[in-house]
Amino acid sequence: MKLIGRRQFLKKSLSGLALATLPVISFAQSNPDVVVIGAGSAGLAATAELMRRNIPVLCIEGMNRIGGRCYTDMTTFGLPADHGAHWLHARKGNELYKFGKENKDKFKIYKEPSTSVVYDGKSKISGNEFWNIYKKIKNIYSDGGTDVPLMDLIPEGTKKNSWFDTAHAAITARDFDNLSVADDSLNYEDNYWESGNALCREGYGTLLAYYRKDVPVDLNTIVSEIKWGGKGVQIVTNKGTINTKACIVTTSVGVLRAEKIKFTPALPQRKYEAFEGITMGTSNRVILELKKRFVGQFKKDTNFYSKINSNGAKSPEGIGYGLLRMGGTNLCLFALNGEFSRNLENEGSQAMIDFVVNQLKSNFGSKFYDKYFVKALATGWNKNPFTLGAYSGAKPGKSSLRPRLKRPVGDRIFFAGEATAGAYGTVHGANRSGIRAATDVFISDALD
Ligand SMILES: Cc1cc2nc3c(=O)[nH]c(=O)nc-3n(C[C@H](O)[C@H](O)[C@H](O)COP(=O)(O)OP(=O)(O)OC[C@H]3O[C@@H](n4cnc5c(N)ncnc54)[C@H](O)[C@@H]3O)c2cc1C
Repeated sequence: MKLIGRRQFLKKSLSGLALATLPVISFAQSNPDVVVIGAGSAGLAATAELMRRNIPVLCIEGMNRIGGRCYTDMTTFGLPADHGAHWLHARKGNELYKFGKENKDKFKIYKEPSTSVVYDGKSKISGNEFWNIYKKIKNIYSDGGTDVPLMDLIPEGTKKNSWFDTAHAAITARDFDNLSVADDSLNYEDNYWESGNALCREGYGTLLAYYRKDVPVDLNTIVSEIKWGGKGVQIVTNKGTINTKACIVTTSVGVLRAEKIKFTPALPQRKYEAFEGITMGTSNRVILELKKRFVGQFKKDTNFYSKINSNGAKSPEGIGYGLLRMGGTNLCLFALNGEFSRNLENEGSQAMIDFVVNQLKSNFGSKFYDKYFVKALATGWNKNPFTLGAYSGAKPGKSSLRPRLKRPVGDRIFFAGEATAGAYGTVHGANRSGIRAATDVFISDALD
């Protein structure tokens, strides 16, 4: 038997999975009762649920792939690189975690290791001061209650601490002055902080695609308008118009807010207010392939924090957090969050990569690039016209609008997607929202 390296092993074991994930049909052949718009976690779930209930359904997707914001790229590095979702949150109740565990022959699913390293911008340090500040802010945030910006609840003394910016960038993808403290306590169903994460070595996107491998999807089908003035619904796409009885819209609130899909007649005003109040935050990934001699010094999946000195800026300018030696590979992931990430994305992927490499140079030496760098990619979720942001969050004062997002309109237009979910901002939440919306269609009068 020929022994193969880790990279080849992953490549081999994933090639079969990748092939299993691209079912494509042409909608000209179908006569659907329901059209599901979007083939991310929510759209795939909604379609699967309608199929289970024997309702003729068509799932259409604007991009040339499924998964939406949960996508594993196997092409860039020949290793699993999640562009979006990577952590299986709330693992104990997470249905994808359970599915991955049941499919041990295909997926290695494991509890997120707790190893972390903290750097002060020059060298590795104990990190105690950082963790004190981090926990203090985390407790204020998770106490919830009032619908005010998290920034307003943080004592001035804490804001002046030299590790404040680092904790600010690490805790959430949203800048604290734009983060409603009540959104979590009012609308979030899991205990985010205590329910524990898991990781999937093959990538969360690969797991999702395999979980929904039996769902056919018509790719490259871009919806521009939904007409619902008469009977039923007409879905206008770049490939023609589809007549149907009902539709489930699973696109992000970013896409809805930007009116990338026109509704004719317009949706009720309460919907647009909700799209204004529950907005997309920005989070991007820079993923680096680094040489073994660098990653080899860390344990698998080590969390990385590097001190940010932004003088209490509205949006800290630094790496939010990193994940070194992802899944035991030579890949390392770095998160850039908030307004800072949005601005850097506007400068282009090379600017994002350069920024991260420079931060690493300051911690690991000026020869970092020459000694360790192999390859890099940067995501651009904010500019991607099919997402227009990373995931939803309520603006301060607007968290009570979230339940409006999922309310159907005219008993014909149903809404799913992470922003409508109890576990919003997650893959498993989006999955549940899809099942919920499909059930809503089933019990509605739309199919009569
Ligand atoms: C950087 C980042 C990190 C994240 N980290 C995590 C994590 O670690 N764990 C976690 O659980 N979650 C994480 N998330 C959030 C998670 O990825 C999302 O909550 C979830 O994937 C959303 O699924 P969805 O089906 O609601 O939406 P989407 O995945 O956005 O699916 C909607 C689909 O609609 C399609 N679409 C849009 N417009 C049109 C149109 N006009 N016509 C046709 N199709 C259209 C889109 O292409 C897309 O495929 C992360 C997200 C990002 C961006």
